[in-house]
Amino acid sequence: MSTSNATLQTTAKTKILNGGPLPTVIAGPCSAESEEQMLQTAQELKKDHRVSIFRAGIWKPRTRPGMFEGVGTVGLEWLKTVKEETGLLTAVEVANTQHVEEALKHGVDILWVGARTTVNPFSVQEVADALQGVDVPVMVKNPVNPDIQLWLGALERLNRAGITDLGLIHRGFSTPNNKPYRNHPKWQTIQEIRSLAPGIPLICDPSHIAGRRDLLETVSQQALHLGADGLMIETHINPDVALSDASQQVTPAGLDRLLTALDLESERV
Ligand code: PEP
Ligand code: MN
Repeated sequence: MSTSNATLQTTAKTKILNGGPLPTVIAGPCSAESEEQMLQTAQELKKDHRVSIFRAGIWKPRTRPGMFEGVGTVGLEWLKTVKEETGLLTAVEVANTQHVEEALKHGVDILWVGARTTVNPFSVQEVADALQGVDVPVMVKNPVNPDIQLWLGALERLNRAGITDLGLIHRGFSTPNNKPYRNHPKWQTIQEIRSLAPGIPLICDPSHIAGRRDLLETVSQQALHLGADGLMIETHINPDVALSDASQQVTPAGLDRLLTALDLESERV
């Protein structure tokens, strides 16, 4: 398959990397579940100077219906409280016009497009149209399937709508054999996307690659070794009772141990 470089207009000062030390650490629950869960998690995370962005899923794209599909807009109120009380930047997933409008109305700092949305150019275009003329950073997760062109196409759609603060999130791919991962990292795609979309920060999401806590360290280490600019790690005050992705979430104390084990500074290449 032939590939061509994306021609992207990008900002020199990205809010995603926040001018802070690399790697940027984004942490927070897979899903917003209650105000208490959000605040307790964020207050613990705030104690860790390495964490700068708090993530939470408000609308959850579940593979099959009948599971917890997110708390919806009320979660954005909780996120606002998190921001006021901790000063952490906030990030949520958006998949349609309503999500974008609600997130912006509630002052969310950073948006991301999820893997199930990146696969669909109609949905990405809808998000891009809703963002026309808005100055907000947007991170784009790789599509579920290992198709770099779809990933690039999503960046280009957002860029054409005027979004210049763009980020990439590598969360692994669904492949015929993902074992031992939940989603296969296919590490060579990091180099590939980097050369096709130069200058765009690349965040690794070891949580959705690993699917289980015990693989987070190895996956994170590998991503940093390959030059990832940041990590997005799902963190919950009580992971075992989480309403989504319980087996891959860690406590704030677990995140602290993980980041310490990674020896972030010296690992940068
Ligand atoms: C998430 O980050 O909570 C999520 C739904 O991830 P993905 O889009 O990678 O499946
Ligand atoms: Mn999740």
